[in-house]
Amino acid sequence: LQNDGQEKSLLVQLTPYGVGQFLIVTRDVTQVEKLETTRKDFVANVSHELRTPLTVLSGFLETLRDMPAESLSGEQKARYQNLMLEQAQRMQAIVADLLTLSTLESSPTAGGEPVRMGSVIRNALQQGHILSNGQHVFVENIAEDLCITGVETELASAVSNLLTNAIRYTPKDGTITVSWYLTEDGHACYSVQDTGIGIASQDIPRLTERFYRVDRGRSRATGGTGLGLAITKHVAMRHNADLTIHSRFGAGSLFSLVFPPARVSLA
Ligand code: ADP
Repeated sequence: LQNDGQEKSLLVQLTPYGVGQFLIVTRDVTQVEKLETTRKDFVANVSHELRTPLTVLSGFLETLRDMPAESLSGEQKARYQNLMLEQAQRMQAIVADLLTLSTLESSPTAGGEPVRMGSVIRNALQQGHILSNGQHVFVENIAEDLCITGVETELASAVSNLLTNAIRYTPKDGTITVSWYLTEDGHACYSVQDTGIGIASQDIPRLTERFYRVDRGRSRATGGTGLGLAITKHVAMRHNADLTIHSRFGAGSLFSLVFPPARVSLA
């Protein structure tokens, strides 16, 4: 076995091989073990993420069942109903994102047609939930005729995810700058820069893991499923693009999707 400096898991089998002889078979099972650990973690995470809203939901339902109907005012009833709806919608969002991820994983590269990313970005910026929190959003330098060969719905979800995150993790009065441009060496770059809470360097490599959040409470409170960047990373991979993240804790972040020249065309 080649020693690449990494810790290895080896499976060693001793098999009788003729009179007084044995065959030693050594197999490197490092990768198999890693996959198994990832799978187990994933199942545990999904169960945990779904169990939380389910517990809240059944708590409210029990309370409603056990309370005499006349002791609830109309206002209280409406409040309980809204809280229960919120939890149900949370589960729906998690399941929808999990389905999106598993569809993306089922094939490694995307075909598709030239997509005008300028329109995709403008559409995303007009979605109600993206612009609601009082941050200043500047659209800088959108190259209107710059297209990416790919699947429009996937590209649109990657574009929205980075924008939604910038809004989610930037306080009111912060600034978000969005750009879409051709680089000197023929790559196309979509970038979203914010002056938000930023990310400590040790967290950056883990952000695209499913359900990884720096601050669980904040992500949940803002409606995040913890799957947005995992989806964005998969969309990037399927379009041979790189998702790059630069950030400074307390100062802000720059997320970019960089597409290779082979995917780029002008309309
Ligand atoms: P979530 O639904 O929690 O936003 P994501 O996968 O989109 O899930 O992001 C994972 C985590 O990365 C977030 O919980 C947050 O901690 C961090 N993050 C993502 N975008 C930003 C950003 N623009 N500024 C600061 N932190 C961010």
